[in-house]
Amino acid sequence: MKKVAILGSTGSIGMQTLDVIRNHDDLKLAAVSAGSNIDLLEEQIREFHPRIAAVWSESKAKELRTSIADVVPACKVVSGMDGLLEMAAMEESDILVTAVVGMIGIKPTIAAIHAGKDIALANKETLVTAGHIIIPLAAEKKVSILPVDSEHSAIFQCLNGEHGNHIHKILLTASGGPFRGKTMKDLETVTLEMALQHPNWSMGRKITIDSATMVNKGLEVIEAKWLFGIESSRIEVVVQPQSIIHSMVEFEDGAVMAQLGTPDMRLPIQYALYYPNRVFLDGTRLDFSKLSEITFQKPDLDTFLGLKYAYEAIETGGSMPTVLNAANELAVAKFLHKKVRFLEIYEMIRLCMDRHTLIENPTVEEILETEKWVYETIESRWIS
Ligand code: NDP
Ligand code: MG
Repeated sequence: MKKVAILGSTGSIGMQTLDVIRNHDDLKLAAVSAGSNIDLLEEQIREFHPRIAAVWSESKAKELRTSIADVVPACKVVSGMDGLLEMAAMEESDILVTAVVGMIGIKPTIAAIHAGKDIALANKETLVTAGHIIIPLAAEKKVSILPVDSEHSAIFQCLNGEHGNHIHKILLTASGGPFRGKTMKDLETVTLEMALQHPNWSMGRKITIDSATMVNKGLEVIEAKWLFGIESSRIEVVVQPQSIIHSMVEFEDGAVMAQLGTPDMRLPIQYALYYPNRVFLDGTRLDFSKLSEITFQKPDLDTFLGLKYAYEAIETGGSMPTVLNAANELAVAKFLHKKVRFLEIYEMIRLCMDRHTLIENPTVEEILETEKWVYETIESRWIS
């Protein structure tokens, strides 16, 4: 029996993880958590009987304690960052699925590693900003970081059994998002509704906007650098609009391994939870007799500046990926509230990257201070 704690159980990845647990008797839910959606959390507690529920807001946690008072066995409700840390490091779990969105995942992920938990990592913002802390810590504590992001899971699957064989290149595939083929001029007038229409994947709102700007692919290049220990010059983004090839690895002899499948996040979630085993997954399979084409393009870095800025942030290193990520988090939140235009997301990232004084090897506190500096810089300088 594997006991699973989920950071962000009410979100897109969180709910698909619950779907995997629902279908397997040898997986048991140990903990759930949410920002504020306590109605869904209550449903999850009544169905799965976890031991701990963490809610960000203390007032919502109080409401939840009252509404689940009749649940047996009792579920402890905790709140705030202390609550997230407690659930992340709880004794009863074996693995933490980091399905929370944003840099809020850094501290709980570190707490879980310190407590010896394996990590099924969906929360890419954590690795983008604190990869230099998390990867060595995981090695020291002998815990596995198992990728859930579909591209990284694909690469991880391609590397299975290749111990000692060097990666020549990672070919990170991208759908290109809803605005593939558009020019900078076209992007001046795109709306929130248009940006939320991802052609292939149904995901949370923040990552859907990140896919439209291609900041998501930039974050994934940084994520791949940390997960697979490879420099960014060997990570090539390939636009593959049908989202059938989830990523590829080219080895030194020129052989290219790829993982293909229908777009279904339950596969990488399941692979992380059962690694190195594979178990049955229902749902649509690839039907090659109906598949008309798989096409490839180069990404347009002059239009999709999110990807270009991400490569620049990795090359600069230190605190620069945090600046890129934090500016993007705030900019996307503003775009989701219709406070700024689509292209202002790039402009906010650029402003912060230009003004930042680099910290070479930031500690967690310095990463969080950098995030604060980014927020203050945008709030004080942005007139929209
Ligand atoms: P969602 O927005 O759907 O879900 C986010 C989850 O985080 C929700 O459960 C939310 O709770 C919770 N949350 C937000 N703020 C807090 C907080 N302060 N404290 C505790 N919990 C909080 O996001 P996704 O599932 O789409 O994405 C999650 C992560 O996975 C992201 O890093 C994303 O980049 C990555 N990812 C997602 C993919 C996908 O297909 N969705 C694919 C690959 C990676 P509440 O419901 O209360 O707001
Ligand atoms: Mg991805």
